[in-house]
Amino acid sequence: TRAVHLASRPDGVPTQDNFRIEEISLPELSDGQILVANDVMSVDPYMRGRMNDVKSYVPPFQIDQPLDGGVVGTVIESRSEGVPEGSHVVHQLGWREHAVLNVDDARIIDTDIAPASAYLSVLGMTGLTAYAGLTRAAEMKAGDVVFVSGAAGAVGSMVGQLARLLGASRVIGSAGTDAKVARLRDLGFDAAFNYHDGPATKLLGQAAPDGIDVYYDNVGGDHLEAAIDHLNIDGRVAMCGAISQYNSVEPPCAPRNLALAIGKRLTLRGFVIAKYAEEVFPEFQQRMAEWLPADKIRWDETFRDGLDAAPQAFIDMLDGANTGKMLVRL
Ligand code: NDP
Repeated sequence: TRAVHLASRPDGVPTQDNFRIEEISLPELSDGQILVANDVMSVDPYMRGRMNDVKSYVPPFQIDQPLDGGVVGTVIESRSEGVPEGSHVVHQLGWREHAVLNVDDARIIDTDIAPASAYLSVLGMTGLTAYAGLTRAAEMKAGDVVFVSGAAGAVGSMVGQLARLLGASRVIGSAGTDAKVARLRDLGFDAAFNYHDGPATKLLGQAAPDGIDVYYDNVGGDHLEAAIDHLNIDGRVAMCGAISQYNSVEPPCAPRNLALAIGKRLTLRGFVIAKYAEEVFPEFQQRMAEWLPADKIRWDETFRDGLDAAPQAFIDMLDGANTGKMLVRL
C-alpha cells in the first residue's frame, strides 16, 4: 500500500518537499487483527507540532516514517469475530491507503446515523474537543456571552453551535474570510467578524458591547490579547489551540495585557482533549444522538481527493482553505 512519509521537518510553513509518498508492505494478519481500506482521512493542526522534533503531549513524527492520524475505513479482511468484513471503523493509522491493526485500536462506527466522515468531525475528535472544551475547560453556563476564534473551522463551528444549544446569551465568532463570516451567521452566530478587517480587539469590542464571559481560543496571539481586553469579571478562557503560532519560528509576544487577568479574576485553562475524552464521551454521544437527528447541528466539510493530495490539503488547511473539517478521500 502507499503511505505519506515525513521527508524532512518543516522550517516555518510546511512545503510539499517535507513529504514523500512511498510504497510500504503490510504485515500478514494475526489473530485479532483486521485489514482496513482507508476511505477518508483527517488532516489536523496538531500534526504541525508533531512535525517538529520537540517533546510534547504527543510524540514527534519520525523522519522517513509514515505519518499517522485519524481515519475512517472499511474492513476488507478480518481475523476477529467482533469486527466482521464490511464493518466501518475509525482508527489512527491515517496518511496511508490500507492499514493492518489490532481490533482494540479500531472502533466500529454506525454509518446509518451519519456518513463515515462525520466520525472525523462532528461526531469525532473535533466535535468532542468543542464539547469538552466548552463544558469542562471553560465551564460555560447558560447566559454566558461566548466568543470563539477559528470559528468557521472544524472545532470552532461546533463550539458556536454548541454554545447556542447550551444557552449562551450571545455567540460571537471570528474567521479569516468574508465568506466564512457569512457562513457563521447562517450557522446561528449572533455576530462574526473577519480578523483581517482590523485589530482584533477593536473588532471584538464592536461585536461584544457588553463584553464576553467565555473565550474559546483556537488561535492565540492577538486574538487572546483581544479576548483578555473584553472578558468580564470571572471570565474564563479555554486554551484549545494557538494556530497563529504553529508555523512561527520566533516566540510570540502577545498577549501583552496578561496582567489584566488578575483584576478581572480570569481563569485561563489550557487543555488537551485526551484529558477529558473518556469522561465526556458518553455524555457527548448522548447529546449528539439528540441534536443531530433533530437538525440542531450542522457541519461543513472540505474535501480533497487521493493520497497524493494529502500533504497539500494539510498545508492549505493551516492557511485557511477549509470551511469546517478538512478531509481527504482516499
Ligand atoms: P480548523 O478546521 O479550524 O482549521 C484551521 C483554521 O485555522 C484554518 O481554516 C484557518 O481559518 C485558521 N487559521 C490559520 N492561521 C490562522 C491565523 N494566523 N490566525 C487565525 N486563524 C488562523 O482546525 P481544527 O478545528 O481542527 O482546530 C482548531 C484549533 O483547535 C487548532 O488550534 C487546533 O490545534 C486546536 N485543537 C486542539 C485540541 C486539543 O485537544 N487541545 C484538539 C483539536 C484541535 P481562517 O480562514 O479563519 O484563518
